[in-house]
Amino acid sequence: MEEKLREYARLLVEVGINIQKGQNLILASPVECAPFARMCAQAAYAAGCREVIMNWRDDVLSREKFLHAADDVFDTVPEWNRRFYNDYAQEGAAYLAISASDPENLKGVDQDRIVRSQRSGSEALKPFYRLQMANGFPWCIASIPIPSWAEKVFPGCPDAVERLWEAIFQSVRITGDGKAVERWQEHLRLLEERRDKLNALRFASLRYRNSLGTDLTIRLPEGHLWATGGGETPKGQKFIANMPTEEIFTAPLRDGVDGVVVSSMPLCQDGNIIDKFSFVVKKGRIEEARAEVGQEALEAAISLDEGARYFGEVALVPYDSPISNQKILYYNTLFDENASCHLAFGEAYNECVEGGQNMDKEELKALGLNDSIAHVDFMVGTADLSIVGTTHDGREVPVFDHGNFVL
Ligand code: ZN
Ligand code: ZN
Repeated sequence: MEEKLREYARLLVEVGINIQKGQNLILASPVECAPFARMCAQAAYAAGCREVIMNWRDDVLSREKFLHAADDVFDTVPEWNRRFYNDYAQEGAAYLAISASDPENLKGVDQDRIVRSQRSGSEALKPFYRLQMANGFPWCIASIPIPSWAEKVFPGCPDAVERLWEAIFQSVRITGDGKAVERWQEHLRLLEERRDKLNALRFASLRYRNSLGTDLTIRLPEGHLWATGGGETPKGQKFIANMPTEEIFTAPLRDGVDGVVVSSMPLCQDGNIIDKFSFVVKKGRIEEARAEVGQEALEAAISLDEGARYFGEVALVPYDSPISNQKILYYNTLFDENASCHLAFGEAYNECVEGGQNMDKEELKALGLNDSIAHVDFMVGTADLSIVGTTHDGREVPVFDHGNFVL
């Protein structure tokens, strides 16, 4: 176990954020994960990191705050907090977040407080989020188990934490043999091959259909680019934004999405579970949203701003792929999005359009990319999903059949 943990910490630091000599590292971690966070810090210093700056998180304190803090707390962000994120982002510090949370940590909390806190946070940390969406600094989000989350994934199992560890190690290709880095390089190469095929086709639109009732047409911007989880900063520092990652993604045309889309997995959003939901979409805008579970949380998520009602990401993940084949519902988007084709409502990534990394929001908007303070992935892939691409000269090309790539 010790060896696997060290290998995982090294993988996150050396491949995930690819820390450079003299670079600062912001490390965010739940307090329960302190021993692992220390290993990441040790790996970073061993690789020449200048300073590791800790940002501790705690589900219990976060819930207490949402329940009991003074009401105006959710509309303001203290100056030191703005400076912390924005200044480090602007200097190009690396950002590694260990994401582990009780999926229902904020159940019963006033949704209005959650929405206001997101709005004020996004506004105050705009420079940070802008740079993150444009790969302006190396960032990586990864996970390790905490008991509350493991209990949700493996209810009633006395060894839930161990089982979640096993599943996570498998999904990030850690076996303890010290060869995880090589396996990741090979994995990224395969994703890049597929990305290149899609880019060569230059689709005008994609049509999604399955037996859940999804029938959605998504037009793609001219000059759209498919990307993989492997990003690169303007200075050429390569990193992997999410570990694990199995997706190939691009941006839809903001006003070019029409039809009905039905979720295929529960979505854990801001400490609430939203399940069995669907959207009716007209000219890109979500006109109707219905959830059997979590209607209020769903309404809140798409009401963050006007852009939250439009889509910002189209991602392809085969039904037959490593995380999907585990048949585990993680209640954590980092894993669940890599088990299923997904879409995101909210902001699009700069790298999804030619030259996008150097464009500002107005330029991206002019090309048809969505702008929002939200970016929420939700899963739509099923065993019977078909996706047919249409090229600009009207040729139809099957992309997915029975849930898998056929390109
Ligand atoms: Zn995605
Ligand atoms: Zn996403």
